[in-house]
Amino acid sequence: MLDIQKIRSDFPILSQKVNGKPLIYFDNGATSQKPQIVIDAEVKYYQEINANIHRGVHTLSQLATDAYEISRGKVQEHINAKFAHEVLFTSGTTHGINLVTNGFASILKTGDEVIVSSLEHHSNIVPWQMLCEKTGATLKVIPINENGELIIEAFDALLSERTKVVTVNHISNALGIINPIKYIIDKAHAVGAAVLIDGAQAVPHLKPDVQDLDCDFYAFSGHKMCGPTGTGILYGKEAWLNKLPPYQGGGEMIKEVTFEKTTYADLPHKFEAGTPNIAGGIVLGTAIDYLNNVGFDNIQQYENELLAHATKRLLEIEGLKIYGTGKNKASVISFNIDGIHPYDIGSIIDKLGIAVRTGHHCAQPIMNFFCIPGTIRASFSFYNTIEEIDQMVEAVKKAQTMLS
Ligand SMILES: *Cc1c(COP(=O)(O)O)cnc(C)c1O
Repeated sequence: MLDIQKIRSDFPILSQKVNGKPLIYFDNGATSQKPQIVIDAEVKYYQEINANIHRGVHTLSQLATDAYEISRGKVQEHINAKFAHEVLFTSGTTHGINLVTNGFASILKTGDEVIVSSLEHHSNIVPWQMLCEKTGATLKVIPINENGELIIEAFDALLSERTKVVTVNHISNALGIINPIKYIIDKAHAVGAAVLIDGAQAVPHLKPDVQDLDCDFYAFSGHKMCGPTGTGILYGKEAWLNKLPPYQGGGEMIKEVTFEKTTYADLPHKFEAGTPNIAGGIVLGTAIDYLNNVGFDNIQQYENELLAHATKRLLEIEGLKIYGTGKNKASVISFNIDGIHPYDIGSIIDKLGIAVRTGHHCAQPIMNFFCIPGTIRASFSFYNTIEEIDQMVEAVKKAQTMLS
């Protein structure tokens, strides 16, 4: 079992007061807090080994390069990629997805189809729309049911030999629903389509195994898994990364440059133009070590307890409706209260030190489906407690009384 008080003491921000009240941080879906060990590692990099990577023969450059490549190896091991060069450092999920859609611009043609789901974050919708506009391909959308689950028969019906790419998130950021991605990947492969999984909301809660999943691409952000902002990973199967053209041109991604012709560097450098977030990439490895020390089995078990408790307690409130009631869920609850705008609840409980997200959560199509302007989203992490949830429930009740 987890020693939650000990874990909480690893996160300095959790002992802060906000608006004069102890902080209750339930906006983990937007970004997670950082343990001291991650903060220290960022400082230590700049204090001790700051230098540009893959370039100098001098000692610091070697040290920085080694640390960066060790971190790549940690990520490889963590997600069980076959090769380290299938792990690309990015600035985040958005960057990873755009790298892939940019690559497919030279592959897709009029008449081809791309399938996305209704549960996607805007960053896994808009780049595909832009790709379709550029290539003449058609965007198809997997619908959801009233529980916020993908309608799998509808997905099956959309698949055909015209389908070239299928993309879905592993876990929905707006509703917390866990998608049946293994099924989706297998079915998509059966018609010869490539599959990108947006893992941004999954990696804080579970350890993905990209070989077992057999996905072609898996994108995620460092900042939602206790790592620094401006870091992320795009996993891509070697064959696909060899096939796709580079995303950005510049230093570090070339073998040879003349004005007649430039040849590109081998993987992963072909996709890593320019000086990256070196400190961040190194420290992402520290964050992954930290999470593995806590243990993903422990994290999942504990977060499921938090989810069950919060669901039960919130449903005691009259007029409260939860969106995303499917069985397979991560520790995210989206809800509204009859006749009250989500923003008003969010502002009142913020005064009580409670941080939740209100709005459309970068997933407007879901809000349109439910005919609502947005929701209040409480997203829990392994450093949250049952007591904090009880305090949120009391705060929401108080807000309801004030607003009705
Ligand atoms: C946060 C999030 C993104 C975007 O991540 P960035 O770090 O902003 O690039 C994409 N998809 C999902 C499901 C997310 O939760």
